[in-house]
Amino acid sequence: MKMEFFSVGGYSEVGKNMSAVKINDSIIILDMGFFLPALVDFEESGGERKNLTAEGMIKLGAIPNDKLLRPLKDKVKGIVLGHCHLDHIGSVPFSAPNYDAPILGSPYTLEVLRSELENERVSLKNKLLKINPNSSYKLDNVEVEFIHMTHSTLQTSLVALHTKEGTILYANDFKFDNSPVIQKKPNYKRLKQLGKENVIALVVESLYAHQEGKTPSEKVAREMLKDVMLSVENTENAIICTTFASHISRLKSMAEFGEKLNRKVVFLGRSMQKYINAAENLKLVELSKRHEVIGYSSKVKKKLSDIERHGRNKYLIICTGGQGEPGSMLTRLASHQLPFELLKDDHVIFSNRTIPVEINIRNRDKLERDLKNKHVRIFKDIHVSGHAYREDLRDLINMVKPKNIIPAHGPLEKLNNLASLAFDMGYSKKEVKIMSDGHSVEI
Ligand SMILES: [Zn+2]
Ligand SMILES: [Zn+2]
Repeated sequence: MKMEFFSVGGYSEVGKNMSAVKINDSIIILDMGFFLPALVDFEESGGERKNLTAEGMIKLGAIPNDKLLRPLKDKVKGIVLGHCHLDHIGSVPFSAPNYDAPILGSPYTLEVLRSELENERVSLKNKLLKINPNSSYKLDNVEVEFIHMTHSTLQTSLVALHTKEGTILYANDFKFDNSPVIQKKPNYKRLKQLGKENVIALVVESLYAHQEGKTPSEKVAREMLKDVMLSVENTENAIICTTFASHISRLKSMAEFGEKLNRKVVFLGRSMQKYINAAENLKLVELSKRHEVIGYSSKVKKKLSDIERHGRNKYLIICTGGQGEPGSMLTRLASHQLPFELLKDDHVIFSNRTIPVEINIRNRDKLERDLKNKHVRIFKDIHVSGHAYREDLRDLINMVKPKNIIPAHGPLEKLNNLASLAFDMGYSKKEVKIMSDGHSVEI
């Protein structure tokens, strides 16, 4: 068998993840992600998103350049999405129309995708096929298996492509969390079984391959939150928490501590509403029954003036904006753009980490300056990562015993960190394939 691997996007930057595997005459695409900073740069320099075509977005570097696959498009049998983060599904509205193939994802991933498609006003011809975690689907001669995994959002899977000649395992993104707040532990049993079968290649994220040790569990983030929310005295002031809207377990912990404080919990913002609705439609969580989830801008404004009137100390506000994104709720709160004034000694809890991209670092610095000018009390880094550290990566490799390793999810410097781990474990240079965007390799 000839197997060819395509590193379409996400191998020269952190974002726009897209890979493809060609096995005999079938191609399976893995993820179609977005690289948001490229678009933000474009908009900041006066560009208008509505004028952008898909080709224009490729030129900007906002979506993967799939020109390598276009001549082979008749061979594409499916587009498989591992989880719902935008750096993995954000380009589906623009890239999927190039292929006459179904899109496979977990129910939650597809629920989020559906609202993305609505946002972009795109209706796809591609069929959407729901695959439950820990089940399989046959595409042509390839059996696509979704293996349940933990990450910073719900229903994340490692994807195994089984062929007659062996298996390719796609592990982009994951962490090994043995005490996740929602959902079950990773399916280690299945991973160990794979180790006894024939894994030809492991495509694996390298984002934190440099970070010694094991990624702390979500349980740890929950304890950190508990500590700042329940133990730091605040009876008179506002408490505002921010995290990624897709981090449903984190949102759940925040809401529970808000209740313990006897504060009314309000989730504010369109993306909060989007990810919470998607989870509730699938009965994965129940937040809107006990709390308010407000998406529309006019309603958000009304709520904020109510809070201002009724007493800021009676509420817990949960919103986005932890990256300091212009236009996000927290940024607008910090810069007088909403009918709610932040006051001295209000609490702002950042339950996230700044994504280390220049534009995010700049935005976040500005946000913190604005907050400090208002003499707000800032609690930072109340967070644990959703990505595997070095020892988790080692454990995964030990479990599945791949013949070849393809480091993914980052530029060369990050890919090299994973390569160095592989060399440390006895892999040869030939067995570790360092790729960059827009290339392919035979395996
Ligand atoms: Zn992710
Ligand atoms: Zn990712």
